[in-house]
Amino acid sequence: KEYFQNLVEPLHSNRMEKIEFETIHQRKNKTTYWVEVHLQKNTYQGKSVFTAIILDISERKRTEESRAMALSIYESSTEAIMVTNGIHHIMDINPAFTRITGFKRKDVIGRTPKMIYSDRHDEAFYKEQWETLQDQGHWQGEIWKRRKDGTIYPAWLNMSIIPNRDDKRSRYISQFTDITEKKRKDEVIWAQANYDALTNLPNRRLLHDRLGLEMKKVHRTGSGLALLFIDLDHFKEINDTMGHAKGDLILIESARRISACVRDSDTIARLGGDEFTAIIPEFEDKKQIERIAQQIINYLSQPFYFKGDENGYYISASIGITIYPDDAENIEELLKNADQAMYQAKAEGRQRYNYFAHSMQLKAREKLKLTQDMRGALSNQELEVYYQPIVNLKTGEIVKSEALLRWAHPVLGWVSPGQFIHLAEESGLIHEIGEWVFLQVITHIKKWIGLTGRILPVCVNKSPLQFESESHGSTWSEQLEKLDLPGNSITMEITEGLLLKESPNIKRLLMSLRDSGIEVSIDDFGTGFSALSYLKKFDIDYIKIDRSFIRKIMEDDSDRVLTEAIIVMAHKLGIKAIAEGVETEAQRKLLLSFGCDFAQGFLYAPALPAEKFEALLVK
Ligand code: C2E
Ligand code: CA
Ligand code: CA
Repeated sequence: KEYFQNLVEPLHSNRMEKIEFETIHQRKNKTTYWVEVHLQKNTYQGKSVFTAIILDISERKRTEESRAMALSIYESSTEAIMVTNGIHHIMDINPAFTRITGFKRKDVIGRTPKMIYSDRHDEAFYKEQWETLQDQGHWQGEIWKRRKDGTIYPAWLNMSIIPNRDDKRSRYISQFTDITEKKRKDEVIWAQANYDALTNLPNRRLLHDRLGLEMKKVHRTGSGLALLFIDLDHFKEINDTMGHAKGDLILIESARRISACVRDSDTIARLGGDEFTAIIPEFEDKKQIERIAQQIINYLSQPFYFKGDENGYYISASIGITIYPDDAENIEELLKNADQAMYQAKAEGRQRYNYFAHSMQLKAREKLKLTQDMRGALSNQELEVYYQPIVNLKTGEIVKSEALLRWAHPVLGWVSPGQFIHLAEESGLIHEIGEWVFLQVITHIKKWIGLTGRILPVCVNKSPLQFESESHGSTWSEQLEKLDLPGNSITMEITEGLLLKESPNIKRLLMSLRDSGIEVSIDDFGTGFSALSYLKKFDIDYIKIDRSFIRKIMEDDSDRVLTEAIIVMAHKLGIKAIAEGVETEAQRKLLLSFGCDFAQGFLYAPALPAEKFEALLVK
């Protein structure tokens, strides 16, 4: 009301004859619409009258609004917009165009859009773009453009034709954004997915891609391709003892050394851990591959140095070689076979290379079959514990025995533990089997007490793996207690390597076994890394001198000297010595003269089934 009063006030006060204004009216059905009102003051028969002409201007309002909106979108868009006419003249640009390209209106109006082209596309590209635009009315895609300062940048471009009703001449509208940042991010993501962050080498994924491409090339060109599977030797030891930071440095340096041995066009990838691969496409002959493999091995055998440490550290590498298409049909098989060839190289003593041979595949299959059979061995009662006497060297009296596992395979006959223990370890079956052996042993010890009236301790071999999961079955000491047997009825045979492990879990377990009175013997002494300080630290009871020393003790001076030295050292540390694999009277005499305490071997008896062993005890 007030609004209207104010509006018409000039008419009332005779200041004006006529006013016009726009306002919103309401229809009877309550919808609103824009009107233009013309109010006029007239005189009729001496009186003042007002006439009002009201025009519905809703339609006009709508067009005006949408035009204003279009303009503000055009002005405020973050996308650059450029309008050109049919004869390739720039007619208009928006502010974003200036922001992105650096060109102002006055630089471009009336000129050809070629000024923002980069030289990264050829004539054919623009021709095709133009044809698509004519055919389909629009074109979109990635394109390289040039800024006013000459820099080239990637853009995402949308072009369309706007038909012009008035002069039948079409306009072209180009809208584009600078996608430099997006492209950079995409590249980072791509690199993260395809490269190993530590060494910057391609990872397994990119290796697969490249290998796939190279294999296709082999079909086209007929040339061969070699795949090298490179695994560092003893890296785990270094990593465990020196820490992961140094381990990482060794991996980085290894990556550098391996890369230095191949051509730039060859792909070196890191598969993870200490495993690398090299793809050598289009090689000339096997000599060339062998040269590269040997070079890698030699280079990796050179000492590694760390800042502030003048000591050199040594690793080496084992390499498996496969040739495509000779050795495999697809990527997976090729990689698997290279891996197998590498394992063979390790088995043959490490720091060497080895070609894949189909016989390896057969061996691997046999291994798999044997592992499967082993799963059933326990439940089918195919396993049996044998006992080998351990005698007092002076008196010849049986003082202990060693429990040695035997497997009566239904098809293969007797399978030696040398063949199946490592499979049991690889498959994890060692836990179950180890616990079963222990249970057999303590049951037998109990039985022998009844026969002889005394406890005859048994040495039980315990795989390092059995220490890693403590929770398997009830603990040994608990089981001994249940049968009312003292801890020292069992001597646990472990290998030297176990003592070197820095794992607190293993330390704790060893100590708790010791606390329960179980004795500890170091098996195969002299063959691994010996760390004398550990013998004292863990309060070891026995050392078993490895069979390889005893075997040559008569003819090999150094083995003889070493054996004597081991016995003397053991005694100085309060440890007893057991000689393993004593086969002759001469060996026995010599060992006795060295002061060795105990012996086991074929001279006395091989490992025997429990009943036969019992017969020896009651004799
Ligand atoms: P080991 O602990 O070094 O066992 C000694 C091996 O030497 C046994 O081989 C034994 O039969 C053999 N041997 C004993 N005296 C002589 C001899 O005078 N001359 C010769 N040439 N050999 C002799 P076996 O029974 O084949 O066992 C091989 C390996 O399998 C064992 O080596 C041990 O490391 C492992 N093993 C056996 N039973 C078990 C078990 O229950 N658990 C675990 N974890 N490993 C076991
Ligand atoms: Ca043993
Ligand atoms: Ca041994």
